Amino acid sequence: MSKKGNLETLCVQKGWEPKKGEPRVVPIYQSTTFKYDTSEQMADLFDLKASGYFYTRLQNPTNDIVAAKIAELEGGVAAMLTSSGQAASFYSIFNICEAGDHFVSAASIYGGTYNLFAVTMKKLGIECTFIDQDASEEEISKAFRPNTKALFAETIANPVLSVLDIEKFAKIAHSHGVPLIIDNTFATPINCRPIEFGADIVIHSTTKYMDGHAVSTGGCIVDSGNFDWNAHKDKFPGLTEPDPSYHGLAYSEAFGKGAYITKATAQLMRDLGSIQAPMNAFLLNLGLETLHLRVPRHCENAQRVAEYLEKNDKVAWVNYSGLPSNKYHELAKKQFDGGRSCGVVTFGLKGGRDVSIKFMDNLKLACIVTHVADARTCVLHPASHTHRQLSDEQLLEAGIQPDLIRFSVGIENVEDIIADIEQALNA
Ligand SMILES: *Cc1c(COP(=O)(O)O)cnc(C)c1O
Repeated sequence: MSKKGNLETLCVQKGWEPKKGEPRVVPIYQSTTFKYDTSEQMADLFDLKASGYFYTRLQNPTNDIVAAKIAELEGGVAAMLTSSGQAASFYSIFNICEAGDHFVSAASIYGGTYNLFAVTMKKLGIECTFIDQDASEEEISKAFRPNTKALFAETIANPVLSVLDIEKFAKIAHSHGVPLIIDNTFATPINCRPIEFGADIVIHSTTKYMDGHAVSTGGCIVDSGNFDWNAHKDKFPGLTEPDPSYHGLAYSEAFGKGAYITKATAQLMRDLGSIQAPMNAFLLNLGLETLHLRVPRHCENAQRVAEYLEKNDKVAWVNYSGLPSNKYHELAKKQFDGGRSCGVVTFGLKGGRDVSIKFMDNLKLACIVTHVADARTCVLHPASHTHRQLSDEQLLEAGIQPDLIRFSVGIENVEDIIADIEQALNA
């Protein structure tokens, strides 16, 4: 379990501890396959009797080294990397839900996750009820049914930037005997460790701040080891009852706190194969080594940008929890280290949608890209890009104003970023 204060050391060193004569830097195990001496040794791996590598579709040493670092950063007991954040979201639910099951999710979540939950999971027979995360415990509890298996939300929602009251959500989930799954992509463990507030499973799109340089797509799932699957045996037969695809092995019995990640690896990764390439895990690790330096700088710059925008009379509204005027300001101060949330700011310009688009076209340093949370300042207009299939009414229902500009503040000189905004506002 990581302690507050040593995250910097974990970022730089955790996961790979070389022995005498071994490479100082995490090696890339660019091999699909691993050698054994006897047939029996290999058979024991297939039976999960012994642990070891046999085929990279299931597990690879480079990936496991990097996953171990993220597990430590989040204060969890086990973790796995996936090929993308989408795969991490899907596995986190599908590992405990099957056809006929139900789960509850906050409505203001990443658009790709919303689609996965509302449309694709439904085709698999798994239903999701979306709730307003700011509603009362009683109101949210009404969404739970006897077949509900999980509660899901984002620490800081992309792109709405609502801040989740994680303790409230943990209380609701646990009172219904289900785990709380948190997407911690925007906050990162540098600003918030959801497990400390009661989350059971934490997931990431590592594509964003963790990679930080926009070079590799990836995801991660971390298990706190805190949820007692056996206490709710009837709800989670996939973890507590014998698995016929592993000769009657029951994960919770055989692997204890490692049950959830072992099942996700042995079953889901085996059958669905969304493994992260070892080369990408290596690149992700380079990003992680400076995460503790980059994230505070992203937040400092975003704070300055938000303050500048709030004072500018061409700006209609600004949404950033670092501003005292923001409705989530107190919650952010309580839950996030130093009150820091993330580097993303949203705002709208007076004159609405068309003025917002013109402003974006005039930016020079900030580029229009379908990405957030990397070193370079970038910008997106959800109504014209990621959410362009929605009408203005549907946009508002999703909490996205038609004039909303999502501004992902990078780690360039903040005066340069503000100067770019200023020249585009005046153009
Ligand atoms: C981008 C994103 C995802 C999806 O991750 P990919 O790596 O693009 O698949 C999930 N959640 C959040 C909060 C994101 O920003």
